[in-house]
Amino acid sequence: MEKKKLSLPAQIGIALVAGIVVGLICYFGGLADFTKSYLKPFGDIFVNLLKFIVVPVVLFSMIDGILSLGDLRKVGSVGWKTVAYFMVTTAVACVIGLVFANIFNGAHLFPVLDVSQATYEAKEFGGFMSVLVGIFPSNMWKSFTDANMLQVIVIAIFFGGSILAAGEKGKLCRDIVTSFYAVIERLMAFVISLSPIGVFTYMAWVVATQGAEILGSLALVLLCAYIGYIVHAIVVYSLSAKAFAGVNPLTFFKKAAPAMIFAFTSTSSAATLPVSKESADDLGAEEDISAFVLPLGATINMDGTAIYQCVATVFLASCAGINLTIGQMVTVVVTATLASIGTAGTPGAGMIMLTMVLTALGIPVDYIGLIVAVDRLFDMGRTCLNVTGDISCSLCVTKWQGGELKPKKL
Ligand code: ASP
Repeated sequence: MEKKKLSLPAQIGIALVAGIVVGLICYFGGLADFTKSYLKPFGDIFVNLLKFIVVPVVLFSMIDGILSLGDLRKVGSVGWKTVAYFMVTTAVACVIGLVFANIFNGAHLFPVLDVSQATYEAKEFGGFMSVLVGIFPSNMWKSFTDANMLQVIVIAIFFGGSILAAGEKGKLCRDIVTSFYAVIERLMAFVISLSPIGVFTYMAWVVATQGAEILGSLALVLLCAYIGYIVHAIVVYSLSAKAFAGVNPLTFFKKAAPAMIFAFTSTSSAATLPVSKESADDLGAEEDISAFVLPLGATINMDGTAIYQCVATVFLASCAGINLTIGQMVTVVVTATLASIGTAGTPGAGMIMLTMVLTALGIPVDYIGLIVAVDRLFDMGRTCLNVTGDISCSLCVTKWQGGELKPKKL
């Protein structure tokens, strides 16, 4: 009898559970250092491989997506629908984050920590206009070497649009992009096939080393953020996929699961891109649309980050003895939406951008020091939510463009 190979999602699921079990054993057996020295490095190798393909994947999949959309009008139409979905869902995410944070805060569930000890060296934040200027690259190669993904997206849009506009004369460039993208897809498939190793080793390390913090005083703040993440995933994403694209919520989560688990353990939307693409295509998104929506989403659509920033802001304000007014909450919604757009799809980036929200409210950024130790735990959930939103968007936009979903069999 022929032996059936386990599917990749099943392998990733098993790796996740095995990682948690091994992590718990190491945590209680006092072997946390072992996971750090001998398991995490394998996860690091895997994440390095992902990072190394992220710039070419985003660049070529985005240009290829634009080229396969065929004409600039269609690019514009897909583009505005995608951005509208991202903006609306992010604003809703902020409201959800604020509602749960205020419930927890009102019920005195958040701990009051001593802010005098908090130190955090924030990156200089030059204001909105400098963020806007920073999106436009002055040196393309520098954007690539710095993996500045917002700039990479801008480069992809300019090149994709120009190749289309050049018509017949741009054919060589078009062929080069198509050929490069085909090669990169093969490379991506190979790296993704290694993902169970990355998931297992990272999970074991996180559980073994951060167990103490989970049990510590921040558990309820974490819980609040996770309730927000889960509510948003169910109410906004699976229901919008159902309402606009007719996808059953259970099927949605089942097929999005590999990307969600992968994001949860890698804490990088950009690195998860290849897996998100597989999930979206499995769910039946049109390939040219998902090739456009997903890289853009992995760079600017961060609803998990927005929820985290709202919860963290209410919590840190309460530590400072400040109760936010309605006006200040509106400021939180606006700044957290913008901050999440500016957040790179890399580990820990959302916490750095939290500076922007705190600065707008006059809360000292030093207070971030109170939550920095457990940021990875917040980050796992927010990244998981971030990629789920990108997948849901690619389904909705496929439908809004008049296409039909062509799901692959599980
Ligand atoms: N790690 C998140 C992501 O890649 C960004 C964040 O830190 O919020 O989506």
